[in-house]
Amino acid sequence: MTLFERIIARQIPADIVYEDDQVLAFRDINPQAPVHVLLVPKRVVPRIAEATAGDQSLLGHLLLAAPEVARRAGIAEGGYRLVINNGRDGGETVPHLHCHILGGRPLGWPPG
Ligand code: 5GP
Repeated sequence: MTLFERIIARQIPADIVYEDDQVLAFRDINPQAPVHVLLVPKRVVPRIAEATAGDQSLLGHLLLAAPEVARRAGIAEGGYRLVINNGRDGGETVPHLHCHILGGRPLGWPPG
């Protein structure tokens, strides 16, 4: 079971911002911005590089949920960034696809 599956199963507590039948969003334990939420599919896709055509609907659902998560987290008006880390150099540490939603301050570009 991945760490995020354990959060989905409520075996590990998390500050949940949004949930529906396919995705869960909860606050990151180590926030990199005033608002830092992780949006994860309930069905495990390890990483975006391993997504298949069969995941198309789930991935579309995940992306379409992001603006609602941002609204609920209070950053819709100011703006926010979506980030998906893939693999070692991408900074991926949890092998369960997740979209970071960051906001609450101006975010620099390019990322360091
Ligand atoms: P990645 O580095 O894989 O893109 O992102 C994994 C994220 O999961 C990190 O930002 C990290 O802070 C977060 N994280 C790791 N363990 C936990 C946890 O137990 N609870 C929560 N809410 N976030 C976690």
